[in-house]
Amino acid sequence: MKLDSTKRSREAMRADFAEKMQGFYEGEPEMSPFEGGFTAAEKQLAKFDARRYGSRNHVTRGHVSRLSPYIRHGVLTLREARDAIFQKFGRVGESVYKFVFELAWHQFWQEVYRVEGDRIYEDLEEYKFEAGTWSFELPEGVETAATGLVCMDEPLRELYETGYMHNHARMWFAAWLIHHQKVHWSVGERLFFKHLLDGNPPPNALSWQWVASTFGAKPYYFNKQNVEKYTDGEWCRRCTADCPFNSSYEDLSKILF
Ligand SMILES: Cc1cc2nc3c(=O)[nH]c(=O)nc-3n(C[C@H](O)[C@H](O)[C@H](O)COP(=O)(O)OP(=O)(O)OC[C@H]3O[C@@H](n4cnc5c(N)ncnc54)[C@H](O)[C@@H]3O)c2cc1C
Repeated sequence: MKLDSTKRSREAMRADFAEKMQGFYEGEPEMSPFEGGFTAAEKQLAKFDARRYGSRNHVTRGHVSRLSPYIRHGVLTLREARDAIFQKFGRVGESVYKFVFELAWHQFWQEVYRVEGDRIYEDLEEYKFEAGTWSFELPEGVETAATGLVCMDEPLRELYETGYMHNHARMWFAAWLIHHQKVHWSVGERLFFKHLLDGNPPPNALSWQWVASTFGAKPYYFNKQNVEKYTDGEWCRRCTADCPFNSSYEDLSKILF
């Protein structure tokens, strides 16, 4: 029997979904700009210029590969990504090195999972500060990207609309949720796993634990200057909230820990 491949096209699936969701959902469902499949992964890889990867921490204009959904779903292996980058850009240069280093982080998280198994979902170590009582609820506004803080809402909106969030914004959101909102890291871990196209148990749970300090030497936190630097001040200029990050690291540390 010959299958009708047009029924499996992205547009056909979107239309089918729209029909099934009638009555449950207002408006037309939007598709993520990430396309599945090997050809799409190859295109994404071809677009990536590893020599510009030094800008990776910049949230609004940093050059990152956006390969994670393909890596997550096995369309592209870490080794294939590394070899393709070496072949195209050579084995020299800080940016190329940094990219391969990040691929190695991914591998490292996988190795930890191999050893620890489902323990990655429990606090792996003691907190490196005096932890109080944790909440296990998401704060209001998180699920609608309406917390009132532009540096939280912009990345959350991108997450819900596309299934992707920039690494630095993931760190900011995790730090805000855990250290300012006193929500246990596992709640954020579940939220990310539900929405990220690259949602992957080891890098997800262990990165959350790294921010929390249960898999790292100290808690990760940030201040307003850091947000300004890595968004060219644009998000802070638009933000009308009473900024909880507007302090020195020393003062924030006293407030939070
Ligand atoms: C709280 C939090 C949760 C995260 N959850 C996930 C997750 O579920 N799945 C996931 O793949 N990554 C996760 N990461 C790591 C990182 O944010 C993503 O791998 C990266 O943003 C993916 O985008 P990219 O492909 O454009 O990355 P690039 O910067 O272009 O990196 C290329 C590849 O290197 C690997 N990589 C890059 N940064 C990291 C990192 N910090 N840790 C581990 N591997 C890295 C990934 O495989 C990535 O695809 C998380 C980070 C944080 C702080």
